[in-house]
Amino acid sequence: MIDFIFVFTIGLFIGSFINCVSCRIFLEEDFVLKNSHCPNCNHKLSAMDLVPVFSFLLLKGKCRYCKEKISWQYPLAEIATGLIFVLIYSHLGFNLLEYFSGYQVWNLIYLWIAFSLLIIAFIYDAKHYIIPDKVTFLGIVISSVWIIFSLYNNSITPEMGVGYVYSAFFSSLFFFSIWLFSRGRAMGFGDVKLVFFLGLLLGYPNMLVALFFAFTVGAGIGLIMISSGGKKMKSQVPFGPFLIAGALFALMCGSQAIDWYWSLGVR
Ligand SMILES: [Zn+2]
Repeated sequence: MIDFIFVFTIGLFIGSFINCVSCRIFLEEDFVLKNSHCPNCNHKLSAMDLVPVFSFLLLKGKCRYCKEKISWQYPLAEIATGLIFVLIYSHLGFNLLEYFSGYQVWNLIYLWIAFSLLIIAFIYDAKHYIIPDKVTFLGIVISSVWIIFSLYNNSITPEMGVGYVYSAFFSSLFFFSIWLFSRGRAMGFGDVKLVFFLGLLLGYPNMLVALFFAFTVGAGIGLIMISSGGKKMKSQVPFGPFLIAGALFALMCGSQAIDWYWSLGVR
């Protein structure tokens, strides 16, 4: 239990960093050297203002200096990152106090980094309808290095290695076709690049689970939004967040989802 709290806390702080990075990519600010400041009044923030979730609660969601409202995005992203870190940790069957093998620890760190990048892409796409190339390309590089490392380490078979590359390539080709034939209306080009990263991350057949999840949930939510009149048929609903939620679902329950599908007797 203590390790879950520890992992959740790491996630909260990474989530706070993720918030900072996703704002600064947009403002094209340096995100390592510069101090944190309020986006409204530019006042420099002290350590007391930067404690994940707690600062938000203590300050009642307002800037200490100018009283401008702080977006709910900040605490929500922090909690989500904490939860996702715990999910990945428990998915790998970890128990920090007992179990330590070199490869598994690297696998944990790899998945944490990959999903941190995906959380940035999620926030960014939901807010600005675009997925930053920096994030996708970094993800593609890290995943490629991980696949080569896993092959070298004999942790995956060459067939599995090929499966990752095929998943990336064919998902990207599929999204590229949608992008091309809809002239960029049904799908942005950012999604074409994002699914390449997701293919390398999930491999086959988990990538299919992620895509199935994204299209089903995306269509469902799209219909709800249109029927409730909140969104017009023409207005954009970014697809990246659905793909990223699908990736998390596929990582957590991909094999169960596939077993369930076969058990339906659809052949
Ligand atoms: Zn302020």
